[in-house]
Amino acid sequence: MTDTQIPLAGVIGSPIAHSRSPRLHRHWLKTYGIEGYYIPMDVAANDLEQVLRTLPKAGFVGVNVTIPHKEAALLLADQVTDRATLIGAANTLIFRPDGRIIADNTDGYGFLENLRSGAPDWDPKSGPAVVFGAGGAARAVVAALVEAGVPEILVTNRTRARADRIREDFGKRVRVVDWVQAGNIVEEARLLVNTTSLGMIGKPQLRVPLDGLQRGTVVTDLVYTPLKTHLLQVAEEAGCITVDGLGMLLYQAVPGFERWFGTRPVVDNATRAAALR
Ligand code: NAP
Repeated sequence: MTDTQIPLAGVIGSPIAHSRSPRLHRHWLKTYGIEGYYIPMDVAANDLEQVLRTLPKAGFVGVNVTIPHKEAALLLADQVTDRATLIGAANTLIFRPDGRIIADNTDGYGFLENLRSGAPDWDPKSGPAVVFGAGGAARAVVAALVEAGVPEILVTNRTRARADRIREDFGKRVRVVDWVQAGNIVEEARLLVNTTSLGMIGKPQLRVPLDGLQRGTVVTDLVYTPLKTHLLQVAEEAGCITVDGLGMLLYQAVPGFERWFGTRPVVDNATRAAALR
């Protein structure tokens, strides 16, 4: 890209029509009066490498990558941050002027910033965190919780082998619990996180028994359609502090926008409204 070119960024996935990222980035571009574009791109897995090698030549400064390309993008990148390596997936790519691709993962950052904003009194060191799920998002969440100093992280997942892999990769602070036992560990949680897709519109409900939830526990759901999931509703009724998943989506976008467009955007009510529109 030359100095006079208008910066281009976007999001690559398949399908991509449902993505809220274009609304979010376009809101920030408008708010800060930045001349730039953010474009959704539906790219098939077979074409990903060619597209990623071409975009920098066409004025792109970077892209977000989403399902199903998060792992493949990591392998195609020329340089990968430590946290993306540990998580095993990338969601943010930065194109250097020479065309080299840097891959990062900002999901864990987005997760923690959302918690800090929605539950400012939560102290990571206050006690165990329980994590439902062991997919890509769970790995980002566990990485963030380890870094934040949470003393014990109980991971439970339908497919136990994926949870075991998290324990292998993230160490002794992770304890794996069988999915059928998930209801029994709920009462130990100072923080409870659902990283499964259960509870999302069009997916089955989360059926883990939640009667053990303690008043004051912080409960957050990565699912944000609907905004108030069944889990969050039950938690609210039990006197828990609840944080919805939309904020994570907003905060994970901050580092990318700053790198591509040169301004660190603020996440506020107008940002939420723009993403929900
Ligand atoms: P993923 O790698 O495909 O993992 C899906 C997880 O859900 C796995 O733990 C999977 O268990 C579990 N699961 C799916 N169907 C299940 C069922 N019927 N019963 C029990 N467990 C089931 O996906 P991901 O990337 O981690 O994303 C997970 C969720 O987080 C999605 O809903 C995604 O939209 C959301 N997310 C939100 C944000 C945000 O910014 N708020 C960011 C990233 C992801 P198995 O391993 O047994 O299949």
